[in-house]
Amino acid sequence: MKKRSVIFIVLFLILIFLGSTILISMGTKDIDSSLVFSLSITPTAYPLPTRTYKQATLLEKLTNIFSTLFHGPAMLTEPSNNDREIGKTDHFVLFARENDTDLSWFLAEVEHIYFYESSRIDTNLSEKINIIISVPEPGLCAPRGTTYFNETTTIFLFADPNTPKEQISAAFAHELGHAFIHSLYPNLTDTALNEGMATWLAEKFWVAWKMNSFDNEIRSFAKEQSYLPLYLNQDMTKAYEKTKECLQNRDILLTEFASFIDFLMREYGVDRLSSLFNVQQPEIIDSQRLVYPPNYQEVYGLELNQLEQKWLISILE
Ligand SMILES: [Zn+2]
Repeated sequence: MKKRSVIFIVLFLILIFLGSTILISMGTKDIDSSLVFSLSITPTAYPLPTRTYKQATLLEKLTNIFSTLFHGPAMLTEPSNNDREIGKTDHFVLFARENDTDLSWFLAEVEHIYFYESSRIDTNLSEKINIIISVPEPGLCAPRGTTYFNETTTIFLFADPNTPKEQISAAFAHELGHAFIHSLYPNLTDTALNEGMATWLAEKFWVAWKMNSFDNEIRSFAKEQSYLPLYLNQDMTKAYEKTKECLQNRDILLTEFASFIDFLMREYGVDRLSSLFNVQQPEIIDSQRLVYPPNYQEVYGLELNQLEQKWLISILE
């Protein structure tokens, strides 16, 4: 065989080796991002990144002001004269906005939900909360509820006669959870933990709506391979980006974080969870907004991905 042919064959073999190594490592990366990571080996710590956001420029702020002037505000976030008052309870004032759904049953339900959550978190809310029931918003990723912290807190619920009662109660319980969190953990600026905690507070009503416990839901996600790793979804993008999977992903992530928080509480106690919720507040440096992650390492001596594995072992094994 000529020397040149030998060199050619050797080069060809090296190329095949390199190509297959790259393919194998890409495959491993894919597997790592699903739930197939080993439950027997503690994973390497994966510290959560500090996220940076560009501040709005003067031009963008002006464009915003003009669009508000010409199109009006996107949504009136407090009760107005056009909203019909449908009732008052000890802790709430209820209004209907362009909505003739019969909600007389809901008036009794709100106090029931209030006392359930108040005793779960051992806190009372000092001021009455407005509830506005409005027609569902269009779009792929429409919210079922939203809470605005203005001078008074206003919870929006989006419902029409087709909305199941269980969904209305669960969505309200979740939103009321945000009001309790706002009062007790004002520094909880981390979206994932805030959403998880609001869902945890709403547990009884969430479980009645989904007809499955938090932990059983996790077992189903694992089986159906719809599980979303917490440490890779801590920014919650998948829950809110406008895709057709967004609502499904939102419920998956909310349930996962609720079950994870329940584990942290049972395993390490409420005091350490309170420390975790005391997140370093965002700040602006060089016109960039820096959002710091919760400090899992300092509170638990483990990063989120390592705690996530412990929690999954407790549920799946
Ligand atoms: Zn929420």
